Amino acid sequence: MLSSYQDRVLTCKDCGTQFVFTAGEQEFFASRGLMHPPGRCPTCRADRKARLGSERTSSSSNDSGYGRERSQREMHPAVCSNCGKDTLVPFLPRGDKPVYCSSCFEQVRSYR
Ligand SMILES: [Zn+2]
Ligand SMILES: [Zn+2]
Repeated sequence: MLSSYQDRVLTCKDCGTQFVFTAGEQEFFASRGLMHPPGRCPTCRADRKARLGSERTSSSSNDSGYGRERSQREMHPAVCSNCGKDTLVPFLPRGDKPVYCSSCFEQVRSYR
């Protein structure tokens, strides 16, 4: 297939370096609907992309799901000292303290 594209030498508007805008790249640009040649050399473009990319990832990290997993506390199986029911407590139960299920915990707390 005959390509109408030819390698072009462009000058980076950021650092002034001359770089080759190859026929392949021109085709790639055209296929993405980009009609203007790049104004920056590949190095400066990568720099810019890295900067933009890091800004974007830092601002969107909130909805990545990591925070939710970290906030979920580890639950330990225990037996309620009041009603004897199996329950889960957010701390490691030790023998020296009574452990209550959530409903008994509410009762015990309301006594005080
Ligand atoms: Zn440059
Ligand atoms: Zn209980």
